[in-house]
Amino acid sequence: MRVLGIETSCDETGVAVYDTVLRGAAALRAQALYSQIALHAEYGGVVPELASRDHVRKLVPLIRETLAQAGMTPADLDGVAYTAGPGLVGALLVGAGVARSLAWALEIPAIGVHHMEGHLLAPLIEDDPPAPPFVALLVSGGHTQLVAVEAIGSYRLLGETLDDAAGEAFDKTAKMMGLPYPGGPQLAALAEQGTPGAYRFSRPMTDRPGLDFSFSGLKTQVLLAWRDSDQSDATRADIARGFEDAVVETLAIKCARALDAAGSNTLVVAGGVGANRRLRERLTTMCAQRGGRACFPRPALCTDNGAMIAFAGALRLDAGQHDDASVRAVPRWDMATLSPLVPAR
Ligand code: ATP
Ligand code: MG
Ligand code: FE
Repeated sequence: MRVLGIETSCDETGVAVYDTVLRGAAALRAQALYSQIALHAEYGGVVPELASRDHVRKLVPLIRETLAQAGMTPADLDGVAYTAGPGLVGALLVGAGVARSLAWALEIPAIGVHHMEGHLLAPLIEDDPPAPPFVALLVSGGHTQLVAVEAIGSYRLLGETLDDAAGEAFDKTAKMMGLPYPGGPQLAALAEQGTPGAYRFSRPMTDRPGLDFSFSGLKTQVLLAWRDSDQSDATRADIARGFEDAVVETLAIKCARALDAAGSNTLVVAGGVGANRRLRERLTTMCAQRGGRACFPRPALCTDNGAMIAFAGALRLDAGQHDDASVRAVPRWDMATLSPLVPAR
């Protein structure tokens, strides 16, 4: 089954084709991504109305480009998957409207995908994918969650952030130190040049039991350290390194705890912060020491993309699920309410 995936939940227009007949990473036949970062940069954050309008401009050309890359025509498609939520309602409606129209015109099924299920399943696109049960760490711009994955579609929340998401903490900390929007990846690059241990920040909520996170206090610690420093380039890099180490160590401690709680040794990591090199190294080591393994998607599939939506939708469509003909946009949507996937064959 060849499924077109469409992602428009925020500021990235992503399109991909996934073919369920093929195996491993080769099943991802083609993908294209357009990032609106430049459009929103001058406002220091995403402007929802501008995001919707840009999706309108870019989506159909990207679908054409992706199909051409795959050597396919629309008639070769067997299904369409689109991000139905959570996300910005206007942006979601663009993807949902185009996906639904296409499915209707081609007389093929369409399905609305949960954006975070897309992120969570992205590591399974890669070769040698892990099989449930496992624990997932979702670390993105809007979410920091530990999830027990009993089966595909069966998600139990083990813990989550009580305030800022990990990616949000990266972005806000970068902004405080004068880095341009969106600062997360730039802060991480700067941390590479910093001296380890020059600044040490606390590992929030690791001194008590539980699997929840809190990153807003860390942000304040960085703000005070930066304010009281000489604000030189070298100091900025040292503080970036101290901040990154604190986030990475906090996530590693909670992941180990979550694996203990779930009785598992397999950790799946997804979402934009999953692209962070130091986090990947730390979690890989932690899991190896337990005799298990940490699985990540390639960095480009950590941040928003169409491939994860094509893949998550393809699994459900292939199992015989699809939505009715309505255009569905669900700005707030709890992943625990999803239905487990029961394969058709
Ligand atoms: P959500 O998926 O929760 O709705 P989102 O889609 O905006 O949020 P993603 O696209 O998954 O989030 O990830 C973007 C986030 O990842 C940003 O906060 C960005 O700063 C962060 N990020 C990307 N690369 C890195 C990196 N190398 N190190 C740290 N953070 C990173
Ligand atoms: Mg984004
Ligand atoms: Fe995302």
